[in-house]
Amino acid sequence: MKVSTAEAAAVSPKISYKVTFPEVQAHYIDVEMTVSGLKQASLELKMPVWTPGSYLVREFAKNIESLTATANGKAIAAPKVSKNTWHIATTGVSTVVVKYKVYAFEVSVRTSFVDVSHGFLSTSGVFLYPKGMLDQPSTVKIIPYKDWTTVSTSLEMVSGDQFTRTSPNYDILFDSPIEVGTQDVFGFDAAGVKYEVAMYGGGNYDKERLKKDMTKIIEAETAVFGENPNKHYTFIVHNRQRGGGGLEHLSSTVLGAGREQYGSESGYMGFLGLVAHEHFHLWNVKRLRPIVLGPFDYENENYTTNLWIAEGFTAYYQNLARLHADVYSADAYLEDAIGDINTVENQPGSRIQPLAEASFDAWIKAYRPNENSYNTGISYYDKGAVVGMLLDLEIMNNTGGKQSLDDVMKYMYQTYYKGKKRGYTDAEFKAGFEKFAGKKLDDFYAKYINGLAAIDYNKYLGYAGYQIVDKLADTNNPTLGVSVNQNGKKIVTMVLRDGPGWKDGINVGDEIVSIDGTPVTDLAAMLNAHKVGDKVTVAVIRDGKPYSLPVTLQRNSRVQYKAEQLPNATEKQLAVRKKWLKL
Ligand SMILES: [Zn+2]
Repeated sequence: MKVSTAEAAAVSPKISYKVTFPEVQAHYIDVEMTVSGLKQASLELKMPVWTPGSYLVREFAKNIESLTATANGKAIAAPKVSKNTWHIATTGVSTVVVKYKVYAFEVSVRTSFVDVSHGFLSTSGVFLYPKGMLDQPSTVKIIPYKDWTTVSTSLEMVSGDQFTRTSPNYDILFDSPIEVGTQDVFGFDAAGVKYEVAMYGGGNYDKERLKKDMTKIIEAETAVFGENPNKHYTFIVHNRQRGGGGLEHLSSTVLGAGREQYGSESGYMGFLGLVAHEHFHLWNVKRLRPIVLGPFDYENENYTTNLWIAEGFTAYYQNLARLHADVYSADAYLEDAIGDINTVENQPGSRIQPLAEASFDAWIKAYRPNENSYNTGISYYDKGAVVGMLLDLEIMNNTGGKQSLDDVMKYMYQTYYKGKKRGYTDAEFKAGFEKFAGKKLDDFYAKYINGLAAIDYNKYLGYAGYQIVDKLADTNNPTLGVSVNQNGKKIVTMVLRDGPGWKDGINVGDEIVSIDGTPVTDLAAMLNAHKVGDKVTVAVIRDGKPYSLPVTLQRNSRVQYKAEQLPNATEKQLAVRKKWLKL
């Protein structure tokens, strides 16, 4: 039997939420969920365990309390049947009203927070969903606290009422954070899209400068993909004494900033970098995405080996887009790009964990770092950005500066998001690179994506007539190979793999009290009085007991590369350089 769309809608349950803030001072969001038009014998209500874009099981159900259910004005049982599931018997019941409180006091771009100054609803941690109904629409009615005047979210208004929003399905609801309060809102048009910036917390930002520079970045990023798929887009910015980080969504993003950071050039440029990063995600990962990242499994880890594309390339483009938007110079760009190489090369974990594996293990490693993470892993942001640069240079070289990584991104977006309407597999993205690189990339993948080969940077930078040189190559400074607290007692926070501390047994948590009997004040100065190869006695306190450790000092092997132009660049090198750096 074929049921018409109208009939299907008529028999589907209706879902609505009312959000109130009666105990905002104690950081609670009160939610009343109504499901009507029920025909089934039971309803299972679930809370996602993670929020897309942030690859960690956060167990949002831990913040829910006092859940009750009623039908026809009478209480009905709503027992928990798993960590994030409530079971409600609904035989003979057509409408259920469920009330619960959500504790919201974790400051981050991916967790909910309320106090008297504002409410931030990270929706995947606020709204329960009925099992099996992720494709259902719902409405959200917000009753603001006291003098709160404004709602900022990409969810569509109902009847022009900013406090009533609707979403066509739960993927959209969970991908649309909601800011409510007295935020400073301003707007502008860019790339044919209406942009809104909602500034919470005040700050020394210059709206006119932001509008101008954000427009340029948005237009440079739109040019990569050839279209901007949104009608409107919302930047929610949380300005605090200190702040950072961002989380991407389909038609919005949440950014953290320091409220005074806009006053310095480096702070302002850092904010524009965050804008460029999160906004680039509206294509890369939100639409052009690894195949497992949508539709999402909200109850389990969603494993992918492709976060080096989703995050690393976004990190690459956050710099490149600012350069191509002309808000940042080629010199500043090169310094940041080579900075990523330094980060990768100085991290011992880059020689332990392949890039694809760093992505796969994000859930248990990148998002759960410990004192040994630096030695054992590599960031798919940093190495992904480096690999993005290598592939960009490979393609520009292959095409004599006519095409670039932009063409791969656009092709993949057109082919998979728009054409096949699904995510890409690892093999499909590799084929996309090969199409524009003009050669097979099995060797490249074996070495740099799935393997641990040392990267031949100068081969790739040479395509644009550059090389890198290590500014520290001629130094011979002795090191213990440990990091210590900067203030107060010299407590070891990290022991560098294969350094003197690692080999001779200094532990994280040790307090270094003396070297050769001299109490430690300025550790770096004391070490510089020695030579590489010197044997010293390091006295430490470990778990309240003294230990005396003989340690052989080694050369500090940190690198600090900088880019230099090659003399006598060829026409082809200059063409690649022009395409890459617009020089
Ligand atoms: Zn990102």
